[in-house]
Amino acid sequence: MMHSSHHTQRSINTLIQQARTFHERATLHAESPIDFQQLADGQSPHALFITCSDSRVVPALITNAVPGELFELRTAGNVVPLYRPERPNGEAATIEYAVEVLAVSDIVVYGHSHCGAVGAVARRDDLAALPAVEGWLASEIAVGLDQEKPGTMPPCPGPELADAVQQHVLTQLERLHTYPGIQQRVAEGRMRLHAWFYEIHTGAVLAHRPQAGTFLPL
Ligand SMILES: [Zn+2]
Repeated sequence: MMHSSHHTQRSINTLIQQARTFHERATLHAESPIDFQQLADGQSPHALFITCSDSRVVPALITNAVPGELFELRTAGNVVPLYRPERPNGEAATIEYAVEVLAVSDIVVYGHSHCGAVGAVARRDDLAALPAVEGWLASEIAVGLDQEKPGTMPPCPGPELADAVQQHVLTQLERLHTYPGIQQRVAEGRMRLHAWFYEIHTGAVLAHRPQAGTFLPL
């Protein structure tokens, strides 16, 4: 599921060095210096991004967002758990906080090509050595992709997994409607839900167009 990094010349030490100088670099940034004191006063993000944990997917980089603009939920396979108030979980708590407290106007479910989680389900990988991953995917992703909608999974998914991931993203969007606060806001036109698909191999971002019934360039 994993591939080695191409950044062979960089390491955790590079990252540590960058973190040491972050305050200075951010404060002195020529175009958009960060006002840390203003950030301390609170946050009012424009959107909740629900993305995979994959290191190649970086919402703030793609949107050029600065601190305070994006609220993020990252899970293996950008999964949205079904709303089950009787089974509290961190994913639902993050979504509820974004909706009820931060009052985000937009939620973006942001899937990506070459996704290890979706690929494992699509290929029916043996995950016996990864019991936590297997349990998560069996309980969340697999239900959405395989059992609820038989036939939606392409029989021979290619490495890019575009069809499988796009179907998966739409399933997660449907699940957001099971959250009572979201359902009401969408119905009243106060909130919009977006299904995006990121091509790791090109950097292109596609969005689902309901009227066209497909994903097209953003
Ligand atoms: Zn992924």
